[in-house]
Amino acid sequence: MYDMIIRAGRLGNGQLVDVAIKHGKIAALGALPESTEAKQTLTLGGQVHVSAGWIDGHTHCYPASPLYHDEPDKVGVASGVTTVIDAGSTGADDVDDFQRIAATCKTRVHALLNISRIGLLRQNELADPADIDPALAQAAIRRHPGFIVGIKARMSGSVVGESGLQPLRMAKQIQQANGNLPLMVHVGNTPPDLDEIVALLGEGDLLTHCFNGKPNRILTPAGELRLAVREAMRRGLLLDIGHGGASFSFEVAELAIAQGILPHTISSDIYCKNRIKGPVYSLAHVMSKFFAIGMTLEQVLACVTHQAADALRLPGKGRLEVGADADITLFEVSCGPTLFTDTEAGIRNGDRQLLPLAALVGGALVLTHYGKSHHAFCV
Ligand code: ZN
Ligand code: ZN
Repeated sequence: MYDMIIRAGRLGNGQLVDVAIKHGKIAALGALPESTEAKQTLTLGGQVHVSAGWIDGHTHCYPASPLYHDEPDKVGVASGVTTVIDAGSTGADDVDDFQRIAATCKTRVHALLNISRIGLLRQNELADPADIDPALAQAAIRRHPGFIVGIKARMSGSVVGESGLQPLRMAKQIQQANGNLPLMVHVGNTPPDLDEIVALLGEGDLLTHCFNGKPNRILTPAGELRLAVREAMRRGLLLDIGHGGASFSFEVAELAIAQGILPHTISSDIYCKNRIKGPVYSLAHVMSKFFAIGMTLEQVLACVTHQAADALRLPGKGRLEVGADADITLFEVSCGPTLFTDTEAGIRNGDRQLLPLAALVGGALVLTHYGKSHHAFCV
């Protein structure tokens, strides 16, 4: 007797699958016999898609942040996202408070610890070298294993002030002193120049805002990938979208994708303002933009499931397989003309949109607003 069976969900490759859940884990997968019994059955009839639970690798959901705040379940399960990673809203000073809040959420919440002890208390959190304290960061990482999954450094002029590359060098030291955990680096306006930033990056590092349209972008003025970025990617640097309110350009994305440079992870950089007023709205909306520029459903799903789980080293996540956590996203792919905008006044026409219906976290079902009115979930 299983706790739940999801019948005839459609995978990203178009195939149908049944998923059986027991004790919060995926217990069986494939075409299950009619006689298989479960306490609860969701009959999707091939109309609803099923994938491993979506992971948003760059959000801001520490509710008490004075700059970029939101509630984890709003950017999480209510939007079809089973795991959210807060990217540096908190540092060693306030991560304990964030962890207490996160533990009460239905969504799985993790943090990338800001290398500045003050987190995003101010816009220039890396301008004062005294705020970067490797011992305090290490103590916080040790207090919260499993919650803190990596570190974050924002490397743009308005954040680092006169400090140049020094905060990034310290971030690399903190990374190496703590089991080489993932380091997410934000890029924006110079200084420092992107070439200097990526020269320090490689294996275990993620470049977020990777398709931003600012002059410090990954492309040369001629539209080719900068050599320094190509070399860093050869060393293992991963590209993360981190759309946000000012960091995604269709033009850059199209030029990059045309050269075979796909993002490794699609993340939203969402917080309450860009969620409510746009241009982010939700991870699903950001994912849908990539259909309009030529990525397939399977490619887009990979960027929020196994590729995100691997990049952020989240065991048991990102794959529909027996033994994995029963973290699952159910969604529709609705067809019809849709206009998408980037952060540079670019507009693209799309013909498909992802509409999340429900998130299961450890087998616990949470319907989205849209899912509540959906026939698949009416008894
Ligand atoms: Zn950023
Ligand atoms: Zn951010």
